[in-house]
Amino acid sequence: MTDSAKRAIQKYIDRNQATFGDIRFAESAIEIDMGDGITVNGRIDMVKDVMIDGEKKTVIVDFKTANKRVLEAIDTEQLKIYSLGYQKLTGQTADYMEIYHLDSENTAREPVTADLATTVETEIRQAADNIRRNNLPKRCGTESCSKCHLSHLCLSKAEQKNYIGG
Ligand code: SF4
Repeated sequence: MTDSAKRAIQKYIDRNQATFGDIRFAESAIEIDMGDGITVNGRIDMVKDVMIDGEKKTVIVDFKTANKRVLEAIDTEQLKIYSLGYQKLTGQTADYMEIYHLDSENTAREPVTADLATTVETEIRQAADNIRRNNLPKRCGTESCSKCHLSHLCLSKAEQKNYIGG
């Protein structure tokens, strides 16, 4: 794993070194106080400037190493929360969210839309409300139960048989 990590980092440096001067933040801690006792915190991997059609744009980058398709990952709540975090941190809105897959070097980039901050704030409040009310239904079949490390806690014997062949 160490060798593989070193190879991925070296590959990233070889490919991107010329634009390292455009990096504005790396590993930036964010903490969003949403009120009502709800706090969200995390760390943005990178924020960089990119020239797109002759204009300087701000891009929030999240590095992935897991074997996941970048297009699937771009829609995750995590990146949306980072966009919101960047807004709270700097008072500015980022232009794009990007997933950079270190193994394959594939990237996926989506624009940060005007209603994204409102949508993600609503989703966070709903999630907090569900946690408080212990409203956490199982999502068997919609997630990969066979790879889930909580399956022994979550599934009954019958469900284990159905969803993970146990
Ligand atoms: S086993 Fe894991 S993936 Fe499947 S429903 Fe339970 S928590 Fe979700």
